Amino acid sequence: MTKYVSTRNKKSALYAHEAIIRGLSEDGGLYTPLAMDIHIDPAELLDLTYQQQASRIIGAFFDDYTPAEIEQCTKGAYDEKFDTEEIVPLRKFHGGWLMDLWHGPTSAFKDIALTILPRLLSTAYQKENRDDTIAILTATSGDTGKAALSGFADVPNTAITVFYPEIGVSEIQKLQMQTSTGKNVDVIAVRGNFDDCQRMVKEAVSSPLVLSACRHVTISSANSINIGRLIPQTVYYFHAYTELVKQGVIQCGETVSFAVPTGNFGDILAGYLAYAAGLPISRLITASNSNNVLTDFIRTGTYDARRPFHTTMSPSMDILISSNLERLLFLLSEGDDAYTASLMKQLQEEGSYTISDELRQKIQQRFAAYWTDEEACASEIRRMYEENGILIDPHTAVAVHAMREYQNESGDESPCVVLSTASPYKFSRDVYRSLSGETEHDDLAAMHKLHQLTQVKIPDNLARLHELPIRFRRSIEVQDGMKTIAAKMEELSHD
Ligand SMILES: *Cc1c(COP(=O)(O)O)cnc(C)c1O
Repeated sequence: MTKYVSTRNKKSALYAHEAIIRGLSEDGGLYTPLAMDIHIDPAELLDLTYQQQASRIIGAFFDDYTPAEIEQCTKGAYDEKFDTEEIVPLRKFHGGWLMDLWHGPTSAFKDIALTILPRLLSTAYQKENRDDTIAILTATSGDTGKAALSGFADVPNTAITVFYPEIGVSEIQKLQMQTSTGKNVDVIAVRGNFDDCQRMVKEAVSSPLVLSACRHVTISSANSINIGRLIPQTVYYFHAYTELVKQGVIQCGETVSFAVPTGNFGDILAGYLAYAAGLPISRLITASNSNNVLTDFIRTGTYDARRPFHTTMSPSMDILISSNLERLLFLLSEGDDAYTASLMKQLQEEGSYTISDELRQKIQQRFAAYWTDEEACASEIRRMYEENGILIDPHTAVAVHAMREYQNESGDESPCVVLSTASPYKFSRDVYRSLSGETEHDDLAAMHKLHQLTQVKIPDNLARLHELPIRFRRSIEVQDGMKTIAAKMEELSHD
């Protein structure tokens, strides 16, 4: 059975379900499948639905779950919650294909992983015969919070509490969270910023006050470094490939490239795992915004986080430390845990590290990297609409731009699939401004103006947002965090 090892100490090895429960290794490393004896031939996936492909692929990685357990998870995740039967539809545009990953319940690509993670987690607990309630505590600056609330809603043996900064999330994001449904969900505004929320959640895990309130309650998080979030993202790489085969664009065995809007490096690493499991990928194109630390790293081999932080139209990519990159360093250094740990130590202590030439060349064989500034991002949104009649969000625009630059420079003629990661309506103000040149400060008003201008359908969950009853209005002071969380744990406790 496949073992998942810590990137910082290979001796720490777990089966998939144990790694999903644990999340992060105690040494700070990330659980990663080292011996990749997983092989999936795309030819055997051609006649399968998305759900069946998901069962086959996720089942191959998480082979300590029974096929019936995996199937229950994939069927429960990828159902009518998605507003299209295709789950991740593929559209042709001039120059490439767009794979829309945002047809889930919150119109964000994080739904693909967060609709299934709660099911994998609660199945893992059943396998261990544990009857604790899993209390998920999540700090959010926007998108992850709502996707996690939606994913965990009414999943047995789980409860979720999301903390968001009272100032800092958009009006749409706030409404999305405040109107969440489900008996096991709670949403609390914090009179502070995102870092205050994050600190509160981290402190809770070891707070004596909180821990003494937990009886048959285990605190966990829905963090993006959980291997249970990563593996489900390999599925749509295979799915895009099989769609291109079925459409006659390629024959099985020919290569495809993917352009991926990248923040924490999770999405694109899932692409690398798909490649390692047998998917014929030419290049994975890492697309960044002005926070271009990854572009520099992939081109030069030096990762240097000591640089100004830019706030952009693509906030999910405003990141200077891309956690999942650690998994790539580990895999491509043939599982050199001591080397990976030393690079991460340098990053923490000095803010930068440089990898060996050999490792840099291995990365460059499979990865290309480009970045896009705000102006080019806005023009790309306009250009896609004018040339193709397709409305894209700023994150996706950064990836389309990267694809064009890559195609110009590399001469790679493999078909290229761009991963489209959010509905344009989630970023209505910026998309509207990019198209019309006019500024509208109110989120909901911008959404309607954008619709009037383009007639592109607004996803139901966003269109109906202002009609839904607000369930959560509570807000707390930062210093009341531990008291609040302890009371919550008391409420969830049972004998
Ligand atoms: C999270 C997110 C990304 C970045 O994905 P990573 O896995 O963090 O690289 C890109 N676009 C959108 C809209 C996102 O929400």
